[in-house]
Amino acid sequence: MRMIQEETGVQHTLKERLKEIFGYSQFRGEQEAIINSIMGGNNTFVIMPTGAGKSLCYQLPAITNEGVAIVISPLIALMKNQVDQLNAFGINAQFLNSTLNKAEINKVKKDALDGSLKLLYIAPESLTKEENLDFLQRANISFVAVDEAHCISEWGHDFRPEYRRIRGIIDNINPDLPLIALTATATPKVQQDIAKNLRMEESALFKSSFNRKNLYYEVRPKLADVNKQLIKYIKNNKGKSGIIYCLSRKTVEEVANLLSVNDIKALPYHAGLDGQTRMHNQDAFLNEEADVIVATIAFGMGIDKPDVRFVIHYDAPKSLEGYYQETGRAGRDGLEGNCVMFYNIEDIQKLEKFNKDKSVTERDNARHLLNEMVAYANLGACRRRQLLSYFGEYMDKDCGFCDNCVKPTQKIRIQNEAVLILKAIQQTDQRFDGEHIADLITATDNIYVTSYEHDKLEMYGAGKFKDEQEGEEYGVEFWRSMIRQLVILGFLLKDSENFGVLKLSDKGAKFINDPFPITISKDHTFDENETQKSSDDEDVTDLAPAGGGNAYDEALLGLLKALRKKLAKDKNLPPYVIFQDPSLEEMATTYPTTSQEMAQINGVGMGKVSKFGRPFIDLITKYVEENEIETAKDVVVKSAANKSKVKIFIIQQIDRKVDLDEIAESKGLAMDELIEEIEHICYSGTKLNLDYYINQIMDRDRQHDIYDYFMTAETDSIKVALDELLEDDVTEDELRLMRIKFLSEVAN
Ligand SMILES: [Zn+2]
Repeated sequence: MRMIQEETGVQHTLKERLKEIFGYSQFRGEQEAIINSIMGGNNTFVIMPTGAGKSLCYQLPAITNEGVAIVISPLIALMKNQVDQLNAFGINAQFLNSTLNKAEINKVKKDALDGSLKLLYIAPESLTKEENLDFLQRANISFVAVDEAHCISEWGHDFRPEYRRIRGIIDNINPDLPLIALTATATPKVQQDIAKNLRMEESALFKSSFNRKNLYYEVRPKLADVNKQLIKYIKNNKGKSGIIYCLSRKTVEEVANLLSVNDIKALPYHAGLDGQTRMHNQDAFLNEEADVIVATIAFGMGIDKPDVRFVIHYDAPKSLEGYYQETGRAGRDGLEGNCVMFYNIEDIQKLEKFNKDKSVTERDNARHLLNEMVAYANLGACRRRQLLSYFGEYMDKDCGFCDNCVKPTQKIRIQNEAVLILKAIQQTDQRFDGEHIADLITATDNIYVTSYEHDKLEMYGAGKFKDEQEGEEYGVEFWRSMIRQLVILGFLLKDSENFGVLKLSDKGAKFINDPFPITISKDHTFDENETQKSSDDEDVTDLAPAGGGNAYDEALLGLLKALRKKLAKDKNLPPYVIFQDPSLEEMATTYPTTSQEMAQINGVGMGKVSKFGRPFIDLITKYVEENEIETAKDVVVKSAANKSKVKIFIIQQIDRKVDLDEIAESKGLAMDELIEEIEHICYSGTKLNLDYYINQIMDRDRQHDIYDYFMTAETDSIKVALDELLEDDVTEDELRLMRIKFLSEVAN
């Protein structure tokens, strides 16, 4: 190892240059030590969370040193962003990638060879090109920086095979070049992989804490009212900058649209937009013309906006590393930063489906990462402790600043259970993962447990006892949760050589002989809620409200239904003609107290408001006053009317008495699809007169019979109507058209 320069003159110059070029008067964290390390010619490994000033660690030495520094970076957008920033500081930095033409490439090479270029950003695939290799061998290179170094590891969340060839290429240029590898996310396993692959196990390691103290972490179950929650959240944070991450371009568009129609300044960002729009939207967010950017994970790499106040994951991310990196964009200035994830198991299942075309290894890795994600969402343990534990950092107490700390799940005292787990790990030679141990303890079917003859161990099935206090049996899930919490509490360590394998820590080994009661948290029941919602169990209706699936006010719903019944009787109409159940449920959720608010309810519309709305509005107003309910007026969710063009077209055509067959044909719809559209229009309260068409296809008597039927029917179900009118030989289309006529005349 070479001597690190310690002359005060050099230190003095570094600080001066920091001020002169970047405008900072102080280094942050370990920046100075890192810069000294690489400037001293040492291989240097930097693990530093996003927003802690990682790029400065190679930029400043590159500027100060003689020659040009090579920066290997995975993304063209990221390169461009950094080059732009450096050029703005008056530094000659350029990139070499596939977007350049011949003349531009020659300029880059010329500047590199004559020594005026300080930083050359290059993608790993460009590095391997023969002509580039040749010129790099001739250039005076100060050092090589490998940015986003986690791309080397297939255990990481962003594996790029070409990254694994970097070491070989550098050896071809000059094997003695000093190397600095940097990443913002690395579990101990990934960290080891990077060091091994770059042959820098002996390098100076600078690992900053991953604890972002100002970030508040929260996970919410993603239920049917997710859009309402989202809008409410943003409106409560009016004027603040926020990022919403979605999984797909489609969802990005939908959510951005939804927010816009609800008067939130939001713009979409994803790789499917053309370059100019993307740039415009990004700038609008940076310049605060837009408060919210709705984006796929393509957004944010290299974006340095210090005052992002919230990061919302509308869909669950693919890995905790991704989650940590994306949430890391909140509160970079050290002030407020809220991180909310909407989680449900269906999103995870969707992600699993994406993996099905991958190779076996890739698929296994992706599944491991997802499992960690699911565990994070469900575990009742302190979120910050969980996250830090994932990155190999141990925290000795709960943070007090996350949802699990602020609103804890039920706490449980365990002792014998912990001893049992630790013993099982000890007696299986510390070679297995948590799932294996949980299966062993609960005697759950697992061929590995039997093939290793672990079913002969004394603890096999020993966890199938009842907990005396709770009077409940611990299932295998509960044992898995306990095992995870023992890792977080430091009784167990993850083996960084072998993925998932658990070993005893010193603390764990001592505990076996000298145990004491420890407190753990029960898991959330997010996943159970989901199954309750979707299963067909007969008692689902009883369970649903308790499970959180329905957000409506049951007392109010009862009153609304009673009012509907009374009105229906007075007007001699079936109740559903007035308002359908889903509309009443929505009223019992959003408490509309004006005609405008009432008209926003799905299936209502202004027509129905003026016809039936008043008594309902009066009832709700009285109820809200009596029960002192705070109505969230700002969360009336308007749905994005992206299909409205077709609907308007249909209404216009019907007004002009155009044949339905013709309308269907001109919009490329089948007849039943057209009727469905018309039904939507009708159920939203618009009056339609279809007589011109109905008179063509049905005689008066037939019309009369069906009309009478709907007048007296208990329900407007077409299926029931078909059964009831079996003898009359009516078709489904006829019934549906008559139902529209009926509803238009009596309801709208
Ligand atoms: Zn906490």
